[in-house]
Amino acid sequence: MKKWYAVIGDPIEQSKSPIMHDKWFVENEIDATYIPLHVRSCNLGDTVENLRNLGCSGWNVTIPHKSAIIPYLDALEPSATIMNAVNTVRVKEDGTLIGANTDGEGFVNALTEVFNDIEFKAKKILVIGAGGAARGIVYALRNAGNESITVANRTKHKAQRLVETVDNATAISLHEAQSNLTKYEVIIQTTDVGMMHGQAGMPIELDQLVAGTIVCDIIYNPLETEFLKEAKRKGALTMSGVDMFVHQGALSFFKWTSISPNTVTMKKTIRSLLGG
Ligand code: NAP
Repeated sequence: MKKWYAVIGDPIEQSKSPIMHDKWFVENEIDATYIPLHVRSCNLGDTVENLRNLGCSGWNVTIPHKSAIIPYLDALEPSATIMNAVNTVRVKEDGTLIGANTDGEGFVNALTEVFNDIEFKAKKILVIGAGGAARGIVYALRNAGNESITVANRTKHKAQRLVETVDNATAISLHEAQSNLTKYEVIIQTTDVGMMHGQAGMPIELDQLVAGTIVCDIIYNPLETEFLKEAKRKGALTMSGVDMFVHQGALSFFKWTSISPNTVTMKKTIRSLLGG
């Protein structure tokens, strides 16, 4: 019987996940489809029960349900517990719903694919932002063996809370990050600032940025944020959020099918959908 998968969120029409997963199903000759479902917060619990009862084989979760879905699931993988957020649900054969989060590992896989000739373990890394995505990225970087991680956040105590559970990580304010940019070899922008239809501008100024620094922004719409454009102007090597988006999706796909799909061609597809 044809399997079906879904993504739930509010809003949902902007999601590129249906196009991505449907293309991977075709490429891998899997008889399945993937549908976007517009789910309001007040309907989240009923939706989870309906997805379970109607035989959905797995689904993605996006804003604003990533944390709110947790009480409706049966168990969490460590990635979801650490991030207190779920972006992937897999359904075991006995119907048990398992929540996972592929964002952090997806970011690290993207970084490794784009900069495949660079060894990151000893690099001095600055993460800007201390929200759910930053938390996953910091843990995944640490799991990948990165030794020097600094987290800068507008609300400094949230950065402090994040680093309390990570060995040798440091918390600073955005101002401190901006004044000490030359210290870092890799800068990862994880705040909402610069998103299409969201807050304009940049979370910090890049006046002190050194040419050759690796600068990543996890926002993928627009394809290039002001932050990334400015970093490029100053001679940085850049990576946009599309790479992470495709890799977090590839990890979801693997959880559902045990197949690692082609990420290289998919990045081109998503970039062209976003006007790149
Ligand atoms: P979140 O948990 O709400 O965290 C938001 C972060 O942004 C917080 O650190 C917040 O700082 C900071 N922030 C918000 N407005 C700011 C401002 N004006 N100046 C400075 N900092 C500001 O969100 P999230 O889930 O981590 O997601 C963050 C971004 O990542 C979103 O744009 C999302 O679309 C993107 N994302 C991309 C992917 C991908 O696959 N490429 C995956 C996941 C998320 P405070 O603590 O001070 O409020």
